[in-house]
Amino acid sequence: MLKLKIAILPGDGVGPEVTLEALRILRAVDEITHVDLRVQECYVGGAAIKKFGTPLPAETLDACLKSDAVLLGAVGGPEFDKLPPEQRPETGLLKLRQALGGFANLRPVTSHPAIADCSALRPDLAANADVLIVRELLGGIYFGEPRGFTNDEHTAAVDTMRYSEREIERVARVAFDIARKRRRKVTSVDKANVLHTSRLWRSTVDRVARDYPEIKLQHVYVDACAMQLISAPASFDVILTENMFGDILSDEAAAIVGSLGMLPSATIGGEVDLYEPVHGSAPDIAGKGIANPLGAIGAAALLLRHTAGLESEALAIELAIRKVLEAGYRTADLNRGTGRQLVTTYEMGGLVERAFMDAAETRHAYHAV
Ligand code: NAD
Repeated sequence: MLKLKIAILPGDGVGPEVTLEALRILRAVDEITHVDLRVQECYVGGAAIKKFGTPLPAETLDACLKSDAVLLGAVGGPEFDKLPPEQRPETGLLKLRQALGGFANLRPVTSHPAIADCSALRPDLAANADVLIVRELLGGIYFGEPRGFTNDEHTAAVDTMRYSEREIERVARVAFDIARKRRRKVTSVDKANVLHTSRLWRSTVDRVARDYPEIKLQHVYVDACAMQLISAPASFDVILTENMFGDILSDEAAAIVGSLGMLPSATIGGEVDLYEPVHGSAPDIAGKGIANPLGAIGAAALLLRHTAGLESEALAIELAIRKVLEAGYRTADLNRGTGRQLVTTYEMGGLVERAFMDAAETRHAYHAV
């Protein structure tokens, strides 16, 4: 029997509210498939500062490193803003990400026709968008040396974009492997007309692509990609890109769906995989029971897909989300227009769980005939 050991880190603000719903769907999967789910809940961020005086206690890190995957809510909040940077909740998350060592950040962005009215794009443009952004996470200009101000007056500064073949190859292989299970198209994004790191990026991706003859590879400059992402998002399948370009493009892609609360993310390739919704702790709505849990539930689906290899269960969760939205249920962030049924975080979690269980029972009955 598959054993799945998960460290759950609810964190701050709406984090605990949305992770509770993600955990609920994982328990439903456990009930159906008997994956022998073991869950350990740990403190991180502001919650950990309040209890242990540090945003990443040793017990939390230890539990995460001994797990198959980590599911995190969100960290941070205005009450911690006055702390020195190294003591803030966000520092705990950065340290955790570094310790887990994931180098490939996956951000799926899928348009849902039922909530097309929330998209920043015209419905006909957003329709059928199903993009997976694979962003390199540990290299590039955010880490390269030298960096900093180059004189005492702080009137000049430098940052260094640096990549090695090894760093590019390992993330490219993640993108190509995933593309095999999707629509078999990789768009590699760079700025090879200007940057040397991009020329290395392009030649390395070309070399990796030879091992994947069934995948269609296309190279696009980052500026052209930014435009195409909002003018023709449905033309993309997997977008592969370096750290900073991925940071910018993935936020742009979020506009296709229209609410931060919808988006999940995964960071894989290191010691332990990390799953989280894209949004932060949303202090403006925390404690009101109105946060959208679908990003966190989507992150649970990604966990089942990428860490546990349970593709059909992951897909079943994504279909359950789609079904609930099609039935007209909305959390407050999605509530545009009329004829919708406004639900709480807890109710939305329950609806997705019910839709998932109903579909599982139907599948079971079908196989029993
Ligand atoms: P945010 O993502 O928390 O909120 C931005 C806006 O989106 C807010 O209006 C919020 O109400 C809304 N929103 C976010 N999640 C939602 C959800 N699930 N359902 C409905 N609406 C949702 O970003 P912010 O306001 O810039 O940051 C707030 C705090 O979160 C800060 O302390 C920041 O440092 C932290 N943060 C943490 C993470 C993380 O833990 N990964 C990521 C981003 C920001």
